[in-house]
Amino acid sequence: MASVALIEDDQRIRAALVRSLAERGHTVRAAGRAMEGLSQVLEWHPDVVVLDLGLPDLDGTELLKMIRAVSAVPVIVATARDDEAEMVRMLDRGADDYVTKPFSADQLDARIRAVLRRAHAAPEPERIELGGLVIDRSTRVVELEGAALELSRREFDLLWYLARRAGTVVTKRELVGEVWRQPYGGADRTVDVHLSWLRRKLGETAAEPKYLHTVRGVGVKLVAPEQG
Ligand code: CA
Repeated sequence: MASVALIEDDQRIRAALVRSLAERGHTVRAAGRAMEGLSQVLEWHPDVVVLDLGLPDLDGTELLKMIRAVSAVPVIVATARDDEAEMVRMLDRGADDYVTKPFSADQLDARIRAVLRRAHAAPEPERIELGGLVIDRSTRVVELEGAALELSRREFDLLWYLARRAGTVVTKRELVGEVWRQPYGGADRTVDVHLSWLRRKLGETAAEPKYLHTVRGVGVKLVAPEQG
C-alpha cells in the first residue's frame, strides 16, 4: 500500500486510475498538469509517481528530469508511445519502470509494488527463527521444535514469504502475486489450500492457530507463539 502521485492530463483515465488504485489500498493524489504534479512531489513526498509523458504544459520527459533533480522517488512512466528506444531513454533518464497505454489497473499496481520492493529491499536473511520455528533459506530446511518438516517447494516459499513479514498481515492477493506469480482471482483458493497444508504440518488449525493467524477478510499473519 503506497502513496501514489498520479500525473495524467486525460480526465477519464485519471479518474479511473484514482478509483482503481484506491480500491487496491493505495492513497492517490492526482494532477492534470506537470507543474501541479511537480509541486505534489515536492510537498507530499509520495512513495511513487506515475507520470504520463504526454502532458499539455510540459513534456513528461522534461518533468521527469525536474523530478529527478530534486527527488529519488520511484517514477513509473505511462506512455502511448510503444517505442522501445523511447523507453530505454526514459529508463536512462531516471524512470524506474514504464507501462504502455492502454494498461490495466492490475498491471500498474504490480509495477508499483515492484518498484517499491526494489526501493525498500533489505538484504534477505539466510535464516529466520520465530519461536520454535527455524527456516533456513539456503538449505530450504524447516525445523519445528528441533524436528525437520517435510514441505513442498510452494509450501516453503509461502512460509518464507510470511516469515519475512512476520507480525504483519499479508493479503491473499499479495500471496497470489508474489508467491504464485499469478494474477488474482481463481488462484486465491489455492492459497487457502496451501495454508491449510502448512497449518497441518505446523501442528495447528485455523481455529486454534499457533503461528498462522487468519485475519478475517484481510489475509494471514505469521507470529511467534507466546513463550512459556
Ligand atoms: Ca496525456
